Amino acid sequence: MVSEVLWLLGLVVLIFLPGLCFVALFRLIDYVAHDELIARVENGEMQSGCRTGSGSELSDGSSGATSGDSVRCPSCGAENWGDATYCGNCLTEI
Ligand SMILES: [Zn+2]
Repeated sequence: MVSEVLWLLGLVVLIFLPGLCFVALFRLIDYVAHDELIARVENGEMQSGCRTGSGSELSDGSSGATSGDSVRCPSCGAENWGDATYCGNCLTEI
């Protein structure tokens, strides 16, 4: 009875151990590949983020930080810096 259980346990280990090894290996490969992907995405996002970030920051900063000293665009109504000559939103001359 005990030997049968042990035999079954050995069989289960023999069946599942290679699978577990494969799972662990794939997890490791996935982890390494994921890390490389993250590095690539971070590099790409840093490049594209700088390009898009400067444009959005211009409109966001002009509308957010100029609550006291701001000029409202006559064309689109967006708030701009007090000394702004062109609208940060629609580029109309103020
Ligand atoms: Zn405007």
